Amino acid sequence: MEEGYTYNDLINNINRLKTTYPFLELGSIGYTVLGRKIPYIRIGNGQKEVFYSGAFHANEWITAPVLMQFIEDYAGQYALNGYLNQFSAREIFNAVSLYVVPMVNPDGVDLVTGGLNTVGNPYKNAQIIAKNFPNIPFPNGWKANIDGVDLNLQFPAGWQQARQIKYAQGFDRPAPRDFVGDGPLVAREALAVYNFTLQHNFRLVITYHTQGKEIYWKFQNYNPIMSEFIGQQFSRVSGYRLAEVPYNSSFAGFKDWFIQDYNRPGYTIEAGIGQNPLPMQQFGDIYTDNFGILVLGLVL
Ligand SMILES: [Zn+2]
Repeated sequence: MEEGYTYNDLINNINRLKTTYPFLELGSIGYTVLGRKIPYIRIGNGQKEVFYSGAFHANEWITAPVLMQFIEDYAGQYALNGYLNQFSAREIFNAVSLYVVPMVNPDGVDLVTGGLNTVGNPYKNAQIIAKNFPNIPFPNGWKANIDGVDLNLQFPAGWQQARQIKYAQGFDRPAPRDFVGDGPLVAREALAVYNFTLQHNFRLVITYHTQGKEIYWKFQNYNPIMSEFIGQQFSRVSGYRLAEVPYNSSFAGFKDWFIQDYNRPGYTIEAGIGQNPLPMQQFGDIYTDNFGILVLGLVL
């Protein structure tokens, strides 16, 4: 078995936190291809709504425990009437409703982390998809959902451009990564994130990926108010570089769509450094680097 943080680990972690901190609100944004619930956790009850998400990409599963650790630390400080850096946890709690979807792609994560039975059909089907792409290691190079659709190329924001770029690179059918799907929002998990966003009024979104220690904040020529400033603050507290998205990755992502449709700050953070999947040994550094971002995302 590979090492990693599985869907089962996530569910256990969520249930444990709920027992300790009953003020957390739990729910689901929808279902995966394999019919599993995609959980969200809400902390805080303020007017301002903020959305953090992780593990859109299977082999970037380390982002899920990072977000869970933040919820745990925030809840702990709230219970103690303590602080998140210099900010009162209770003041944040009363001003902001934070929604967190730590694992957008549980089926894909379990393919990579060993959470899926290797003799079952879902695993075998993924193996068949991967055979067409022999240069991508299996399962460690897998980013897509279990059907071979890249969930961060599923959003209606330049999806046709993304399709053109990725098809030209040879990703013209289900693949371990970079297949845009047969249309925007055909993947259940992407549609669930989309609908969840429509049901809320998020002022700011952060979506966690690995790796590169970079912060992406732009989509095309959109320049939401405060977006660059907040990005600079994120960069300052994390040491991560505020960067331009490479052209070939600049379409059809969740943050692209959010910026396009809402004209509000949306960020993709490429946490950590190295080759995906990043080992659990990086968890501590990633969490330390990103704690300030996760706090500022609530108060800025
Ligand atoms: Zn990613």
